[in-house]
Amino acid sequence: MSSELIRRTAAELAAMIQAREVSAVEVTQAHLDRIAAVDHVVHAFLHVDAERALAAARVVDEEVAAGQGPASPLAGVPLALKDVLTMRGAPTTCGSKILESWLPPYDATVTTRLLQAGIVILGKTNMDEFAMGSSTENSAFGPTRNPWSTDRIPGGSGGGSAASLAAFEAPLAIGTDTGGSIRQPAAVTGTVGVKPTYGGVSRYGLVAFSSSLDQAGPCARTVLDAALLHEVIAGHDPLDSTSIDAPVPPVVAAAREGASGDLSGVRIGVVEEFSGEWYQAGVLASFHAAVERLRELGAEIVEVSCPHFTYGLSAYYLIAPSEASSNLARFDGMRYGLRTGNGGTAEEVMSLTREAGFGPEVKRRIMIGTYALSAGYYDAYYGQAQKVRTLISRDFAAAFEKVDVLVSPTTPTTAFPIGERVDEPLAMYRADLCTIPANLAGSPAISVPCGLSDEDGLPVGLQVMAPTLQEHRMYRVAAAYEAARGEPLTNRVPELEMMAR
Ligand code: GLN
Repeated sequence: MSSELIRRTAAELAAMIQAREVSAVEVTQAHLDRIAAVDHVVHAFLHVDAERALAAARVVDEEVAAGQGPASPLAGVPLALKDVLTMRGAPTTCGSKILESWLPPYDATVTTRLLQAGIVILGKTNMDEFAMGSSTENSAFGPTRNPWSTDRIPGGSGGGSAASLAAFEAPLAIGTDTGGSIRQPAAVTGTVGVKPTYGGVSRYGLVAFSSSLDQAGPCARTVLDAALLHEVIAGHDPLDSTSIDAPVPPVVAAAREGASGDLSGVRIGVVEEFSGEWYQAGVLASFHAAVERLRELGAEIVEVSCPHFTYGLSAYYLIAPSEASSNLARFDGMRYGLRTGNGGTAEEVMSLTREAGFGPEVKRRIMIGTYALSAGYYDAYYGQAQKVRTLISRDFAAAFEKVDVLVSPTTPTTAFPIGERVDEPLAMYRADLCTIPANLAGSPAISVPCGLSDEDGLPVGLQVMAPTLQEHRMYRVAAAYEAARGEPLTNRVPELEMMAR
């Protein structure tokens, strides 16, 4: 029973719990057992709180027994929370030594909404330190492994969240996406990941990396599950000054409509700029096959040029580090977590704490950002990057006059071997080539599995991008594609129990 339960979708589990075919406690226990069986190999979690999860599940079961209606369409379903979002009383490390002993005194708005929805939070997932990276190798607590091939990276920065789904440790997860950290891990683990419109989901309690780009979003194994989770976490929050006060796009209805598989009348633009020397042939082959599939479903396919997208990577790697250099100033040995150099002057404590607490990639970003913002270089670097950002937004606007959504591969390559790019920052950054434009423009995008590469048998992601607050368009297209492709790709993840202790 429990090995069957972990393979169910979140929507199925929620329905079974309401129908009293299974209890939320049994569902939660099945996932805790799975974590106990495989997470020593996968290392998706930094922290699991079984007692707290089971207590939350018990509350849902009591409500079902009392004949109360469900708190949400996902009541009783377990979830893995990225360790960059606060949860009262649970460690929030952001994958960093500098926060190792910190216990947040408050819940992120995303966490509050999950708890109010009756969703059972299993624990906190591994990530690149402060969400900087594309492989989860920058975690201070060791890498996460890709369940498809455990010598490969699970993507990053939210590799733990994506791997927990592919390893059947959780049916739902939350990620955050500043330059691709939800979508790239989704692509390389054969799962679904969504970056909502900037301002669509509250950033209150999301530890800031690059405040003008950071956005939390849903991760799941199916498009419908992602949509259900999206509607739980999205919506206006007065505690976040950049939160949009507008209705949440109807993504669940769009996912259900899309599943019927008809895309007639939908205009889909293929971004011309996303191909070339950095792209694996197997990725492009899967992508082009997906585009043909969309055409068969009735969509009109057109080539679209977005000439400034190629500068996205350079602009992002100035803007994001600039904001990070300012945001990470708060980790000073005084206010949170680690303190080194007690007894020294304030300056000594700050500098020793930061030296000991931050890893090399975080230090690199702080130095690049500080440089880009410094007097004399500001206009040449930060100012220039902001202009590119505007040009990218204009490319999107022009494209969306011609088409309803844009599509591209999510990543240029499949999951690369652990260790391959750790000494080559630029090669690591190239993983974000296709995902960054949506962050810079603030628009939404989804990654949906589009089969296995014929080169290496590893998952490939199809990215669907939509205009601001038009998430329903991309959910509809992704759901139609998913239904046409067949069973969830994760059904083909190799059996991890083989590696049990
Ligand atoms: N890989 C990108 C980076 O290293 C994106 C990170 C993210 O989206 N949090 O900055």
